[in-house]
Amino acid sequence: AIDTTALVSPLVEIDRQHLIHPVSSMRAHEARGATVLTSGKGMYVRDADGNDLLDAFAGLWCVNVGYGQDSIVKAAAEQMTKLPYATGYFHFASEPAILLAERLIELAPNSLNRVYFTLGGSDAVDSAIRFITNYYNVMDKPSKKQFIALERGYHGSSSTGAGLTALAAFHRNMDLPLPNQHYISSPYPYRHKTETDDAGIIAQSVRELKAKVESLGGPDHVAAFFCEPIQGSGGVIVPPKGWLKAIRQACTELGILLVVDEVITGFGRTGPMFACEHEGVEPDLMTVAKGLTAGYAPMGAVLMSEDIYQVLASSTASGATIGHGYTYSGHPVSAAVGLEVLRLYTDGGVLANGQMVARDFAGGLDSLKTNPIVGDVRGQGLLGAIELVANKDTKARFDPALKLPDRLFAKGYENGVIFRAFGDNIIGLAPALVATPDEIWSIFERIGKTLDDLL
Ligand code: PLP
Repeated sequence: AIDTTALVSPLVEIDRQHLIHPVSSMRAHEARGATVLTSGKGMYVRDADGNDLLDAFAGLWCVNVGYGQDSIVKAAAEQMTKLPYATGYFHFASEPAILLAERLIELAPNSLNRVYFTLGGSDAVDSAIRFITNYYNVMDKPSKKQFIALERGYHGSSSTGAGLTALAAFHRNMDLPLPNQHYISSPYPYRHKTETDDAGIIAQSVRELKAKVESLGGPDHVAAFFCEPIQGSGGVIVPPKGWLKAIRQACTELGILLVVDEVITGFGRTGPMFACEHEGVEPDLMTVAKGLTAGYAPMGAVLMSEDIYQVLASSTASGATIGHGYTYSGHPVSAAVGLEVLRLYTDGGVLANGQMVARDFAGGLDSLKTNPIVGDVRGQGLLGAIELVANKDTKARFDPALKLPDRLFAKGYENGVIFRAFGDNIIGLAPALVATPDEIWSIFERIGKTLDDLL
């Protein structure tokens, strides 16, 4: 076991004084100090004290190809040497950005034909919102301005997109959600508010979406519905099979756009390249990031249908521009990284390996079911969650005063495994797709020991 009291890197003090950490309690962080990571190889990261930790969360559900992939380093270095930067503005482009757009469209659902590159997932969501607003204004339907998303959803933390995120911490003191942002219930089988079976949950979601649209004045007032195929940061909530397909159908009937946010679920995380493929769903727009470059460089994208693109383009026929862009849109080094990462998924066998070890992953999740504080395990592909409860029969949660997530993370660390502990009671897992069966089982042994240590 790792002695966490001995984590004494001198960097910790400097960090305390100057570095603001994303999504953290600043006060708690000042007291605790940072866990400084220094290197990584395969499934493992090393901290500043030389401890090797099995990373069961692929960084932040992004390092899908594992650490230390030399071919990606080579692709980045070559591009950096040749041309480190080329703007996408003013009709400029770089070779890797063009080739990556082509490759993404080859891999994405058939409905999508155009790619807009961003720096990550939040600005992909934000860009999607801006494009949709623009689209309906150009269509002369300016009243279609309301957006609907799911409770417990996460769509990043841009000033607009964070309002579609439905997690309290992202709204607190931020004046969100905006008046045109609304939610329907999460299709959360373990804790559904009213339904107990899959068909009931699906029917209820569709009813609720239709009722929400009606309450907002009807389809003439609603622009789009945003959802993750599996809700990640909300607690890895796997909806019943058939849910996304039913939602697709409802959006089509209502005449509102469906935006599928595959920032976590994309690039083999749930098995196929995109989670939409499980049910043959073709979204109007899709947002991606994370696995696109596997965390080796920042990049995200909005993919959209040809129809949407043509409407947007029609407003620029006179030479007018759509004023939306980033200095680093389609960054050549990120794009070169993305091309190599996509090659690893397909020709490099990473996607196939992920599908193979997903069986061990499901077995590992199942093996924890009998633990006295495990209320639910769920997952798809290499995305999973373990929901802890104080009482299995009543599903009672632990008292938040116990600070279970902090204790879980600390105990896990001592046992040499990193996972995400979120909400007040959920362990999230998203190991890299390159894991061996032994590494997957080792994750569950270490988590099992962590749970035992807590009791
Ligand atoms: N959308 C989803 C579903 C996400 O999980 C995330 C990040 O976790 C985002 C959007 C935001 O992406 P980023 O953190 O790259 O801005």
